[in-house]
Amino acid sequence: MAAGAITAGARKTRTLSESGQWAAFGCGILATAAGWWWAATLIAFFVSSSLLTRWRQPEKMAKTEGTLPRTTDRNARQVLANGGFFVLFASASTSLRSELLAFAALGALAAASSDTWSTEIGTLFGGTPRMITTRAEVEPGMSGGVSLAGFGAAAAGAVFIALLGSLSVPQHHTRLAIAAAIGGFGGGLADSLIGATVQSRRFCDRCRHWTERRVHACGFRTRHARGINWLSNDLVNACGTFTGAVIAVVAGWVLARG
Ligand SMILES: [Zn+2]
Repeated sequence: MAAGAITAGARKTRTLSESGQWAAFGCGILATAAGWWWAATLIAFFVSSSLLTRWRQPEKMAKTEGTLPRTTDRNARQVLANGGFFVLFASASTSLRSELLAFAALGALAAASSDTWSTEIGTLFGGTPRMITTRAEVEPGMSGGVSLAGFGAAAAGAVFIALLGSLSVPQHHTRLAIAAAIGGFGGGLADSLIGATVQSRRFCDRCRHWTERRVHACGFRTRHARGINWLSNDLVNACGTFTGAVIAVVAGWVLARG
């Protein structure tokens, strides 16, 4: 039912492509099997991300037009990059009765939320972002570009999912919330760092313009010019959520000892 609700809503608002709907449906079923509250947390992530993405969307698309592909709906790869590790760890946590894996699950989803919130809010209010590594000014939408507004949103997105999801494990509510919030923010940071350093970046020789688009806004085919060719934004997102999981587990362990 939860899975159906997610996909029906996504279809109505056109926030997911057809493959994205199937991926979200699968994630919804697995999360529901892992526990009702895990499923509710996943729905909260999907709904908040979709609302933020659609909020003043034409304005954001105009800002990132030179940098990002012109798509509005998320496909299966994007859904799995954001929710895959969460669903995997939440299912394993329930079937193996492992509290450790609950920390990993929530850290992963909090990282996905952190990344989405920072991207959407940072694009609107962050002004000209700077590269997290070199502090050089970059265009809005460029992976690795950060702003003060983006950092604030990254923290808020992580805390939101951490607080909500921590109710899944009432006996460790506070510790899980703190660890997942730290993991979420850390995973979001890792996403930016990987995006700034090794993620594939392309160049339009006609406009002399850095971009993530295969075909630039001008119609010219771009060439791979920096980073690892196959390391797409989706894979970087998946790495970010995995990092969030690891940090949340470590933070949970440290908090339990302290
Ligand atoms: Zn161009």
